Amino acid sequence: MFKPWRLGAWMGFPIDVNPSFLLLLAFVFIAFGGLAGVMVVGLSFASVLLHELGHAVVARRFGVRVSGIELGFFGGAAKMDGMPRAPGRELAIAAAGPAVSLALAAIGIGLGAVTHVSLLGLIGWINLVIAGFNLIPALPMDGGRILRALLAYRMGHVRATEAAVKVARVATIGFAVIGLMGAYQLLMLAPFLWMMTTREQQMARAEAAAGGTGRGRYVVRQVDGRYVIVDVA
Ligand SMILES: [Zn+2]
Repeated sequence: MFKPWRLGAWMGFPIDVNPSFLLLLAFVFIAFGGLAGVMVVGLSFASVLLHELGHAVVARRFGVRVSGIELGFFGGAAKMDGMPRAPGRELAIAAAGPAVSLALAAIGIGLGAVTHVSLLGLIGWINLVIAGFNLIPALPMDGGRILRALLAYRMGHVRATEAAVKVARVATIGFAVIGLMGAYQLLMLAPFLWMMTTREQQMARAEAAAGGTGRGRYVVRQVDGRYVIVDVA
């Protein structure tokens, strides 16, 4: 859609900002306004970045190639290639981002309550919102990935994806309904989320066609637009 800007690199991960991220920051700015708006914008930016670093660091530890972190209108994404199909690893990678956000939320809200420094409380609440939103079980959001990984222990990646897609559809329709009641960002998110969920479904089916059952430990890579089973993780 837009060409992202490279801000630099952190911990070895290139950090890109999609111009659409400015739209999200504008939403936040309008919602809070003035100096508070600028502060919430800056803190939101940093909090999303730390959330994505959580995913990226754990993924790298499992040997997943992380080509970078991109911040966009719907938050951030750690761009990963060669996701492991061992459910425990997908679970760890998906949970790492919300774990970072929840830790920051606990520290911020806790310290804010003790010290009465309102900035700390603000940091805590921003991170709590980020964690809560990402844990909604709408694949490919973190909550959906966690759900799929948990299901995959019993039924393998492909069938777990099909089940998680059904849950994601319900959540997406929920977003659209809430969006129609005035939460316009959710209304804008719904069609994108629907398409991204469809993509996850197509990927799982393509993997199945390539010979992956989603059971056991292997790695899937996209080669020339096709999915191939390349390695045992
Ligand atoms: Zn995340």
